[in-house]
Amino acid sequence: MEISRRHFLSVLGASSLAAIAGPALDALALPANAKKAIWLQGSGCTGCSISFLNRISSVSPTSAADVLLNVVELNYQPTIMSASGELAVSAAEAVYAQGGYVLLVEGGVPTAFGGAACWGWSMGGKDYTFLEIVNKYSSKAAATICIGTCASWGGVSAAYPNPTAVKGVAQATGRKTINIAGCPPHPDWIVWGLAQLLAGAGMPLDSYGRPTALYGKKLHERCPRKETDEIKTFGVDGRCLKALGCKGPTTEAPCATSKWNNGVNWCVDANAPCIGCTEANFPVRGLMGIGTGSGE
Ligand code: SF4
Ligand code: SF4
Repeated sequence: MEISRRHFLSVLGASSLAAIAGPALDALALPANAKKAIWLQGSGCTGCSISFLNRISSVSPTSAADVLLNVVELNYQPTIMSASGELAVSAAEAVYAQGGYVLLVEGGVPTAFGGAACWGWSMGGKDYTFLEIVNKYSSKAAATICIGTCASWGGVSAAYPNPTAVKGVAQATGRKTINIAGCPPHPDWIVWGLAQLLAGAGMPLDSYGRPTALYGKKLHERCPRKETDEIKTFGVDGRCLKALGCKGPTTEAPCATSKWNNGVNWCVDANAPCIGCTEANFPVRGLMGIGTGSGE
């Protein structure tokens, strides 16, 4: 579907995230082809795709289907596209040939063994590593958005001891990325980032490549439990979880205000300490409680 800048700005204006979009942003000069998008998946769990598919909103676009049918022309997405094999790859290749599309990347990029720990696809009798594909497709993209913490900086996929040397897209390719961090990121954050780009609006980023409109404040600053006493045991409602290891004071994310599942709940309200899933060093101590940090 053809979509005008005006229409997309109206979509964004109606979005529940408009309130955190911040002041007017500078326009980007994106080519017309930028409404086309390619979604690549590397070393990850597909949770970011699932999170996107759980978009529920009372305002347009109301669902992932609404996004895909009326907002963006997504030409390749391995989890949800009906085509497979070379037919699917040829759809991506056609968009690549034109250039100027939006590249969405989910999952980290294994770089050890020449990238051979993660194969992206086969075409014309040749296998291509995810590392090759991400390098190739980011080279002609109008913008590259990392969907989730693995694509942004390695995340869980790069947890100690990281034998396949998983890296984030920017580190693996040397190209700038917009990082919609989270493990997974909230569907509204994904849609908002896409909307900003396709509307041709600017998107100020912090030093980690995250949009400041989304991640610009510490979770702790907006937490309703901020002024409450710290508890030392799990399962107590309404009390600060800092003594239980809550990373809210060092984590930048809007969860306390945007919440999850269409505003139903979020980690701290469920008495689960924030584990800092939007941060570049997540998971800080590796999956087994050992190691020193993501990608290290
Ligand atoms: S529960 Fe976490 S985010 Fe909330 S006030 Fe305590 S430390 Fe901060
Ligand atoms: S509260 Fe923390 S761990 Fe939970 S989704 Fe938000 S940033 Fe991630």
